[in-house]
Amino acid sequence: MPIGRRHALRNLSALGLASLLPLNKTLAKPPVAAVNFVGTIMTVIGPVDPDSLGFCLPHEHLLSRFGEEPAEPGRYDEAAVTATVLPYLSYLSGLGVKAIADCTAHSFGRNPSMLAKLATDSGLHIITNTGYYGAAEDRYIPGAAHGQSAEEIAAEWIREFEEGIGDTGIRPGFVKTAVDNGPISEIDAKLVRAAAITHRATGLTLAIHTGNNAPAAAQQLTILEGEGVHPSAWTWTHAFQVPDPAPLVEAATAGAWISLDGLKLPYYQAGRAQGDDTFDRHLELLLALRKSGHLGQVLLSHDGSTFPPDLTARRPMDFLSNAFLPVLRAKGFSEEEIDTLTVRNPAAYFTIRERLL
Ligand SMILES: [Zn+2]
Repeated sequence: MPIGRRHALRNLSALGLASLLPLNKTLAKPPVAAVNFVGTIMTVIGPVDPDSLGFCLPHEHLLSRFGEEPAEPGRYDEAAVTATVLPYLSYLSGLGVKAIADCTAHSFGRNPSMLAKLATDSGLHIITNTGYYGAAEDRYIPGAAHGQSAEEIAAEWIREFEEGIGDTGIRPGFVKTAVDNGPISEIDAKLVRAAAITHRATGLTLAIHTGNNAPAAAQQLTILEGEGVHPSAWTWTHAFQVPDPAPLVEAATAGAWISLDGLKLPYYQAGRAQGDDTFDRHLELLLALRKSGHLGQVLLSHDGSTFPPDLTARRPMDFLSNAFLPVLRAKGFSEEEIDTLTVRNPAAYFTIRERLL
């Protein structure tokens, strides 16, 4: 058994998953991506050296049409995007933000060309994604995917990495997918397996919307293991929704990334506060992960949204800089720890891995 696989198994046994694994399974050879960007981070205007990424918000939505009819690419009024998003990016830039990953997926608003224009005009590094979004009751999964195998779906995602998304020539910098609540459905499980196959062929990291669903997280890690993919390629996305740090510490111990990506204050709509104040939850989970020695696997972000411009629907992306980091400093976090959370972790996270052929 190759060392990487043995290592993965040892870690997985901590999650009680090893007994579920198909130990004798011979892994099918994945398609080999013809392009190789190992050791770089792929932004919408090309690969960059991880050391130059800088302060990064790893889970935001610069453009989104979530809730609207599925469309790919997302259609926008370009002048309105420029007028709305660009000033906000320059505000974030003033706070020290250097890079943003746009997690808006296929069919609910992904638009790489517009992101490339925003990156050029703002000077920020912007990263987009490949993959299909399986949450929201599968509404944004392209119809054809239901009749395709995981290998066929992965082939399309790998093609986006090799040749660019649509006809834009713009490459994804990570794989974004999502699963619904409850036990993973057949189609969502297929997306997770397609993500694992894509990781093996391209080295792209996997961000999988999971939320407060520890059983689904364990199921995903089992699927990954079946494909020979180590948990360190996987992210527990929206982990801030988990009320108890124990399953997150367990997943981090196995090697997973933990994305505490819902930093926000209640927002006001029709004169009433909406949504949770997530500050305390983020802080509590972060402190638990720090205590267990996993600060180097935590990502902090807002799941913010800058477009559409309806102010009541916008979710800010400045809370980390303006509120959360000052509190961490007051609680005794060193500048090195702050740097780990905001600069080093995202750089390591988005760095394209060796392909597993
Ligand atoms: Zn999101």
